[in-house]
Amino acid sequence: MTIKPLIILPDPVLRQVSKPVERIDAESLQLADDMLATMYEAQGIGLAATQVDVHERVLVMDVSEERNQPLVLVNPELVFKSDDLIEGEEGCLSVPDFYDEVERPKRVKLRYLNYQGEQVEEWAEGMYAVCIQHEMDHLQGTLFIDH
Ligand code: ZN
Repeated sequence: MTIKPLIILPDPVLRQVSKPVERIDAESLQLADDMLATMYEAQGIGLAATQVDVHERVLVMDVSEERNQPLVLVNPELVFKSDDLIEGEEGCLSVPDFYDEVERPKRVKLRYLNYQGEQVEEWAEGMYAVCIQHEMDHLQGTLFIDH
């Protein structure tokens, strides 16, 4: 596993829109492993491929307190967003030392391919829902400070 350099604002690379992954192969798994190592090293709870200058729809997250539940989400989609919103303070590894309140749907249903290449559909709420939406924004070139 390789720790990759993080892309920091105002690098225009953060504004690129990512392409779907066509097939999960050894290269995408290597990318996911490197992203997890990078995220843990930086003590983040989520990281989008955009933030390591790879423009493919890959996210990694770990919202557990123990930092032992790595998640890999390939080609994530939101298939449902709740009308009720949650407001929370967000930060970003690409926007150092800046935190702000962002309002987002409180509950979402997501669909993605996991590390094994299986399609997963699941509900997320609270911190997990917020994190997934924040990371998915990166894949569209959006940052939390835009909200
Ligand atoms: Zn971020």
